[in-house]
Amino acid sequence: MTRWLMAVLVAWAVCIAPQAMAQSGWRVQHFALQLEPHFETRSFTGALAMDFTVQDATLQHLDLDAGDLQVAGVQLGTAAMVFERHARQLRVLLPKGLATGNPLQLRIVYEGKASSGLRFDADTQQVATAFSTSLWMPCLDDPAVRASFALTLNLPDGMLSVGNGERVGEPTHMGVLMRHAWRLDTPMPSYLYGFAAGRFMRARQMAGATSLEFFGPAPFTPQSLPQIFADTADMLAFYADKAGMAYPFPAYRQVLLTGPAAQEMAGFSVMGARYGTRVLANSQAIWLGAHEAAHQWWGNGVTNRSWRHFWLNEGIATFMTAAYLEHRFGAEEYRDQIAAARTKYTALKEAGMDRSLAFPDWDAPTAADRSLVYDKGALVVHELRTLMGEELFWKGLRHYTRTHWGQSVETADFQRAMESASGLDLQAFFKRWVYLQSE
Ligand SMILES: [Zn+2]
Repeated sequence: MTRWLMAVLVAWAVCIAPQAMAQSGWRVQHFALQLEPHFETRSFTGALAMDFTVQDATLQHLDLDAGDLQVAGVQLGTAAMVFERHARQLRVLLPKGLATGNPLQLRIVYEGKASSGLRFDADTQQVATAFSTSLWMPCLDDPAVRASFALTLNLPDGMLSVGNGERVGEPTHMGVLMRHAWRLDTPMPSYLYGFAAGRFMRARQMAGATSLEFFGPAPFTPQSLPQIFADTADMLAFYADKAGMAYPFPAYRQVLLTGPAAQEMAGFSVMGARYGTRVLANSQAIWLGAHEAAHQWWGNGVTNRSWRHFWLNEGIATFMTAAYLEHRFGAEEYRDQIAAARTKYTALKEAGMDRSLAFPDWDAPTAADRSLVYDKGALVVHELRTLMGEELFWKGLRHYTRTHWGQSVETADFQRAMESASGLDLQAFFKRWVYLQSE
């Protein structure tokens, strides 16, 4: 994601992060959501089925993040459950003596209104999610919690949709609406769930075994979309090579949305239509497309365990964006990117706002904190590259990515992986650059 989205994240983090729900005594395995957006009222209705197991036989309740959603009913199997709302959480009171380890299913029926997490554009009949998933679906915002996700969307005829993972068949008629189905089989954190739907133009091309699909509102066309995303195949190949991990899904989808947007999700990314206009005017203005694509590895494939280690998502993705631009446009472009990061970081440092990249908390991050995560984060990875040298640095980054693929990481995991792949002692470097400790 980018700084614009970070502003949303901050608003969200301030509101709910201090109480964001952890799984305690239970584990979610799978979410299956049926969602119907109502364009006239900018609202939606949802029916969620959550597969989970209880690990603690004395468990009395289960808590989910649920934003401002209006919950109409909760069932465990076929039995109605008592539930309570506490601020932005939904607490479901469980019957006594649930057997541990047995597969259970909770069903939640709810409705909600447009918010920063689910935005409608009435003029173009577009609906799309942004950070935070609990604004449109009860879930756990904790990035360390992973589950698979199935989504069905009931949409007006003539709309296209993009969701996580794989499309399940073609849309089918459901009364006057069309039902679109998506399925993400890889368990992933809920902040990477999302969808976009609208009256989009579409284009598609293959990059090896990966289907690249491009979507955008008019006046973009099936001819201009591939121009805008001409470098996507090269981006994915570059990142896969540097990560030592292939792109993990059959398709990568990029969606241009009316209004501001800049976010990575599992298997796709969304960007504002202005990005498309910019790239058509200047084919080198691909920073955002390259950044969101990098997140498919750093952020999505390997995820910060908590937002305290957010620089592992954003600092590495920002560095990798610079590395891609170096590969694509040459060393000078890379130097410019790093120089820009250094300038921002130096200004913060001189203003006395430098701090450890491993934050004690991420409850109320300032603009300076966000700049540290992105700009200082990218700069620190660049400095590490300089210190380690080309061969050992890329060997280390590959080792880090492969070792922790599909897992949650903290800053110490990054240091350990870079050290064990290279045989170098990086303690002094991490103390100075990452933790800001004097030696
Ligand atoms: Zn990002």
